[in-house]
Amino acid sequence: MSQMSFSTLGLQPALLESLSSLGYETMTPIQAQSLPPILAGQDVIGQGKTGSGKTAAFGLGLLNRLNAERFQVQALVLCPTRELADQVAREIRRLARATANVKVLTLCGGTPIGPQIGSLEHGAHIIVGTPGRIEDHLRKRTLDLGRLETLVLDEADRMFDMGFESALEAVFGSVPGKRQNLLFSATFPDAIQTVAERHMHNPVRVQVEESH
Ligand code: ADP
Ligand code: MG
Repeated sequence: MSQMSFSTLGLQPALLESLSSLGYETMTPIQAQSLPPILAGQDVIGQGKTGSGKTAAFGLGLLNRLNAERFQVQALVLCPTRELADQVAREIRRLARATANVKVLTLCGGTPIGPQIGSLEHGAHIIVGTPGRIEDHLRKRTLDLGRLETLVLDEADRMFDMGFESALEAVFGSVPGKRQNLLFSATFPDAIQTVAERHMHNPVRVQVEESH
């Protein structure tokens, strides 16, 4: 399990090309455990320490599912802070570097909403953002999640600590029922347990201890 190559997963060739150009030769433990169910389309709950490579686990999942010829929002990644959203967007763009024409847009609070609305008018395949600002766009109807395929909650426990619960509920109320849900969290308080039970479909649980 420890030295598994990405080539065994059946990823799109362009993603394998990006991985090789990034120097990602073998999967980290959380990637090796979570990518098979993620790529099979299952809902996944993942728990792993910081630096374990969770971004590429969900990033490869949503990119492998993406149809770049369909210019609609197909994936949404929610993060607790703008800094984390920027990091996630950067990693997804790196993983998509060999895939033609993938548009990733970040939508975070603390920055004027007008230019974001302008960017949304030009369209995007993947949105990475903070829950409050995503809720603002949903309320203004400047963001349409009606064709979403993949919803990712990254650092879910921190989003709850920051009081984003009602914004998350607004997002759940605006996405298609038939979608893939991926949830990553360092801890699993009751609030997250409840969200998983209410909004996820038979999630596969993946937990990785620190191995070095
Ligand atoms: P986490 O979200 O679990 O804290 P990240 O997704 O930010 O971790 O990844 C941590 C670092 O590991 C990043 O710099 C990323 O580029 C690198 N990384 C991820 N997967 C691999 C891999 N399979 N091989 C080499 N480096 C990787
Ligand atoms: Mg992370």
